[in-house]
Amino acid sequence: MTNKQANGYGYMTEERIMIRDAAREFTMKEVLPVANQLDGPDGEIPMELRQKMADMGYFGITIPEEYGGMGMGTFEYCLICEQLSRGWMSVASMVARAQGGFIKNSMPEEMRRKYLPMVVRGEFMNASALSEPDTGSDLASMSCRAELVGDEWVLNGAKYWCTFADGADYINIFARTSKPTDPKRRGEGISCFLVEKKRGEFPPGMVGNPIPKIGYFGWKTFELALTDLRLPKENLIGEPGKAFLIMAKGLETARAHTAARAIGLAQGALEDATAYAKDRKQFGMPIAEYQAIRFKIATMATEIEAARQLMYYVCNEIDSGRRCDKEASMVKYFATEMAERVTSEAMQILGGAGYTKLFAVERYWRDARLTKIFEGTSEIQQRIIANHLLGKSVVEEMIADRAFQSTVGARKETA
Ligand SMILES: Cc1cc2nc3c(=O)[nH]c(=O)nc-3n(C[C@H](O)[C@H](O)[C@H](O)COP(=O)(O)OP(=O)(O)OC[C@H]3O[C@@H](n4cnc5c(N)ncnc54)[C@H](O)[C@@H]3O)c2cc1C
Repeated sequence: MTNKQANGYGYMTEERIMIRDAAREFTMKEVLPVANQLDGPDGEIPMELRQKMADMGYFGITIPEEYGGMGMGTFEYCLICEQLSRGWMSVASMVARAQGGFIKNSMPEEMRRKYLPMVVRGEFMNASALSEPDTGSDLASMSCRAELVGDEWVLNGAKYWCTFADGADYINIFARTSKPTDPKRRGEGISCFLVEKKRGEFPPGMVGNPIPKIGYFGWKTFELALTDLRLPKENLIGEPGKAFLIMAKGLETARAHTAARAIGLAQGALEDATAYAKDRKQFGMPIAEYQAIRFKIATMATEIEAARQLMYYVCNEIDSGRRCDKEASMVKYFATEMAERVTSEAMQILGGAGYTKLFAVERYWRDARLTKIFEGTSEIQQRIIANHLLGKSVVEEMIADRAFQSTVGARKETA
């Protein structure tokens, strides 16, 4: 067994090593130079790069071959996205805007045949609108509403943090279509809609304004106002009121994918810091000769590898069809916290140079910071893990009951 194979402790087949190495080569040649040039509030991931990603098959990694995809699993998806994120996290995120998501899992065959080949070609990219101004971690409290009027759904409300809302070809909008009936199932009554739109525009009934964020550049993130946004009846995805069930199916993969992005960022920071430490001389010697720096690098590498191995395990569980929501939360939590520590340590190794736009480390650090917040904050992951180990706390039951009363109450007022 070669060293490279040993790196996966049994998970890394010859084929997976090839897939990983090809993604690494693509990243270093096509992604990293573009990221270093374009990362900033107005820079956009260029169409040319998107076309190259489509040519590599990256928009259809997990889409079955019969629809033109690569027909691979979560393992390969995360393997590739870790590498892409080493260059630019937003590019690894764009890969997640394809893959067919809800279309693949919850739409009729006729729709799959229509849309999935377009997804693979990078011609049908997604944005997701779940969060709202007053609804973040507690998604069940969303107040955006959809009402069936004749043959159309009519959507009203506000959405927040919708990344890529302008550039996407369709947006998955989540809205309440009925009130929940049980405090233990507050997510009941929320539905998911497919809103097709022209690229670069918002559809009639939707107005978008960009939010001034501090990283995750390459695309913009929007607040959206929906006023009588009208959709054909058939644009409801899955059964009405069951969107939380659809979402739950993809949560483990989404968490593994965020871990992969965090690991890629940390790996980039480690490589850059190592190269800098060997080159930078102080007190007559490369700083890599000083134990303080050597130990930092040793700790960074160890933490990255621990996160990576946990990610391999989680991906393998997902692909084997076994539930692993506790472990998926663990890897999301561990890898993202690790990425913030490691990218910050890399910045320390670069000294003042790390605090400039002249090196990529500040970008890795800014993007790593976000991984602890989106796709469920660190605290929400800890909550899931603790609930598995201890059962739900009494306080949580009380809070859920109170939140249920307010959702039902608010519904009565607007009825
Ligand atoms: C750059 C960016 C891009 C994004 N893109 C998208 C997107 O494309 N689509 C989309 O729908 N959303 C998107 N989001 C939203 C993201 O998913 C939310 O920010 C995230 O879920 C957290 O919600 P919040 O910001 O409202 O924080 P809040 O939920 O208000 O949380 C604030 C703090 O309270 C803590 N907290 C909350 N509840 C609990 C609890 N029960 N126990 C302990 N601590 C708790 C949180 O951990 C956090 O520290 C994006 C966010 C950002 C910043």
